[in-house]
Amino acid sequence: MSPGNPASARPPATVRVDLGERSYDVVIGTGLLARTAELIHAHARLGSARWGVVTDENVAKHHLGALEKGLAALGRHLGTVVLPPGEATKSFTWLAHVCERLLEMGLERGGLVVALGGGVIGDLGGLAASLVRRGVRFVQVPTTLLAQVDSSIGGKTGINTPQGKNLVGTFHQPSLVLADIDALATLPPRELPNGYVEAAKYGLLGDAAFFGWLEKNARAVAAHEPDALAHVVATSVAGKAAIVARDETETGDRMLLNLGHTFGHALEAWAGYSTRLLHGEAVAIGICLAFELSRELGLVDEASVRRAADHLAGVGLPTRIADIAGEPGPDAATLMAIMGQDKKVRDGRLTFILVRDIGAAFVCRDLPATTVRDFLARRIKAERA
Ligand code: ADP
Ligand code: ZN
Repeated sequence: MSPGNPASARPPATVRVDLGERSYDVVIGTGLLARTAELIHAHARLGSARWGVVTDENVAKHHLGALEKGLAALGRHLGTVVLPPGEATKSFTWLAHVCERLLEMGLERGGLVVALGGGVIGDLGGLAASLVRRGVRFVQVPTTLLAQVDSSIGGKTGINTPQGKNLVGTFHQPSLVLADIDALATLPPRELPNGYVEAAKYGLLGDAAFFGWLEKNARAVAAHEPDALAHVVATSVAGKAAIVARDETETGDRMLLNLGHTFGHALEAWAGYSTRLLHGEAVAIGICLAFELSRELGLVDEASVRRAADHLAGVGLPTRIADIAGEPGPDAATLMAIMGQDKKVRDGRLTFILVRDIGAAFVCRDLPATTVRDFLARRIKAERA
């Protein structure tokens, strides 16, 4: 974004995540990277803290220069750890590397970790920050749409183990989140729709007006129009912040955020968490399945099911299991077995997010697993016909 662009001159939006003494601001706007030190100072009152940066090679190539310039203003930058990109980096091996590098740099108890990157860097950097010197503060600078609208908010950190994804982690709230819309300009093409799904999810689960806005403005978002993207991020963050504030550690309301995720996680696991099916793509299919299942249960009308699916398909997302590249797709028994391993099925019952309307999701705590299995079997057969 050139400095002369009027959008760059617009003041950033701030959304407060209200968690008592762990409250923090999410600042959303353009040109933020270059102002990082100033924004940390203004929003996080971190005194004379010195900081270490964690990022990955792709993000470093495009955005580390701007961030380091933005941090240089106060002269408290200890160093930067640049990691290989990709989900495999969320491991004990790389966690150890990050912790040791931060200590070598001289990160102190009162110091700060700045995580510059997508969900991988946010989760790993956040976990390292929660462990080094028994926990230092951290600032998230999310650079993917998925991380801006979802994973940077809420304080979940984690790594993967051979037993599964995110099974080792902590709750560690950031002190500040800086969502710089300009960073999204360099995203690989699949990454924008991949994050967009979670934004659409907030509309579909609880904000019909926002979903209507997305229907009208999807093109502007896809074209990276800064005001449109900033609105998407700010509304999503506010939506997630409100839910997280009500339910910090995911016992009640926060479960609504799982709309599309029970089916989505099963599909992702089936595809081996590979680039064959990205998280948001799996969730897009999962949302469509949750709507369709709700319709079969007589909870929601056909028109709403179609509206949700048409919108997601319109931004280039898969909406059917058959849309997953490569043959053959999973069968119902396989998906049910994955959900069972995932502890999603208890005593033959599933806790499931269903919908009554666009913007009206609810937690159903005792859906019979057989209902879900029969639904999936019919659905997969119909898609293949
Ligand atoms: P997520 O989609 O969960 O946020 P990642 O952290 O794995 O996941 O990021 C997805 C990919 O996009 C990674 O290869 C990462 O290096 C790359 N990436 C992240 N942010 C940017 C950016 N702003 N520009 C270019 N590539 C990016
Ligand atoms: Zn998700």
